[in-house]
Amino acid sequence: MVSRVIPVDPFDLVLFGATGDLAQRKILPGLYHRFEVGQMPEDARIIGTARSDMDDAAFRAVVQDGIKQFAPEYKTDILARFLDCVEYIPVDALGDAGWPELKKKLRPDAVRAFYLSVGPSLFSGIAQRLHDHGLATPESRIVVEKPFGRDLATAKALNAGLRACFEEHQIYRIDHYLGKETVQNLMALRFANSLFEPLWNATHVDHVQITVAESIGVDGRGAYYDQSGAMRDMIQNHLVQLLCLTAMEPPSKFTPNSVRDEKVKVIEALEPVEQQDIARGQYKPQNGEDGYLDHVGDPNSRTESYIALKVHVGNWRWAGVPFYLRTGKRLRARESEIAVVFRDPPHTIFPNVGHLRGNVLVIRLQPDEGITLRTTIKDPGPGGFRLADVSLDMSFAEALGADVRPQDAYERLVMDVIRGDQTLFMRGDEAEAAWAWVDPIIQGWEGGRDRPAPYDPGSSGPEDALMLMHRDGRRWRQIGG
Ligand code: NAP
Repeated sequence: MVSRVIPVDPFDLVLFGATGDLAQRKILPGLYHRFEVGQMPEDARIIGTARSDMDDAAFRAVVQDGIKQFAPEYKTDILARFLDCVEYIPVDALGDAGWPELKKKLRPDAVRAFYLSVGPSLFSGIAQRLHDHGLATPESRIVVEKPFGRDLATAKALNAGLRACFEEHQIYRIDHYLGKETVQNLMALRFANSLFEPLWNATHVDHVQITVAESIGVDGRGAYYDQSGAMRDMIQNHLVQLLCLTAMEPPSKFTPNSVRDEKVKVIEALEPVEQQDIARGQYKPQNGEDGYLDHVGDPNSRTESYIALKVHVGNWRWAGVPFYLRTGKRLRARESEIAVVFRDPPHTIFPNVGHLRGNVLVIRLQPDEGITLRTTIKDPGPGGFRLADVSLDMSFAEALGADVRPQDAYERLVMDVIRGDQTLFMRGDEAEAAWAWVDPIIQGWEGGRDRPAPYDPGSSGPEDALMLMHRDGRRWRQIGG
């Protein structure tokens, strides 16, 4: 399979927070990769900004170091040409210094994008200054990172701040899970094939499991994490987005608003979740290694590093089908997947084979993106009629060929911004609808006295999470299995 590269128009990308972790680790290496394959034109420009005082040469040295570290397979001559596209201007997001100089740099005829890779407290201030200093044109785009609020009220305030200066069609709210190849493939699988869609409903699907498991803890950013927890940090955005793409109706067209309209309908159909259908946990210390409470430096913290919950989408298609969501830190493996578990065959014609299990379609997001379908076949060979479960396995890395590097989510998303395609970005009402569903769930446990249950690092999470499934006569798929 050969991937085709269509160059984007010349652009000026102003990267706020250009010296920060995300810019260095993901955004700039992603742009380098797009330059290397010829998608980013040579006359595109990346203008880094932050408060640090440095000139173009010093910033290029920073970018070069970042790319050497985070895109280690870079090519020296291409990197040198990429760095020619990179400039720097010191700008204080909340002051007045630097804005006129930044304005002078921008070309009137190039696509103009402002990427806010800074904390959300700076979003509204930057949007306002872009507007007041005349940098924001009707065609320019503004990109904002997560977290988009910590509840409905703060998300509304962020939306109001951005919309005071930009139209909704100019605002790109990043959820980098949507940039993953597999997530888009989920849409292709559902809406470009006739095989699955007739089965994609309560008649044939028993339940859905969505797992985002991480093996690392929160050490190093414990204080920040403790203010949010797994529900705010992961469920409200990434897992709800995965649920939407799994559960949504086929949009009539593949346009940004048609797709996002259908996603909003799913979020609005999410039913309130009872506290008995939630399991929260915190990883314990183990073998001299610190646990969650040590990492956040607060022995009384009630913030969860793990959460599992049973969710229902209240509409005709999904009535009675539970969606089990779980995510956590310090688990057995780093693994993310959506598993659509079909109903068991209703009747067994084969003697002595026991209970037949339903097919499982697994959409794997990490570590290696791909799709598998668990099927039951005859165990090959002589010696009687036995059955065996096998997986029809499609790994994207294999499908693309060994010499094609899988594209990182940020690469795709930044190019979509330049192309002006909002399909893979959250709309303002979508972010607010997700918070409107999440807020009462969080308030439910904040109002109580329960603490998250301790769980062993390297495990699958707390016992309560296993019980959540067992009570329904189901089992979680094994993490790292
Ligand atoms: P970071 O490492 O702390 O970097 C922050 C950047 O903002 C620095 O370049 C800093 O440079 C600049 N900055 C801070 N205050 C400023 C001001 N008043 N005016 C202008 N520039 C200012 O943060 P990060 O980890 O890159 O995260 C950036 C954003 O992405 C955050 O919203 C974060 O939640 C989100 N995010 C990050 C990750 C990740 O993996 N890092 C993942 C998902 C989302 P100066 O100090 O020199 O000004």
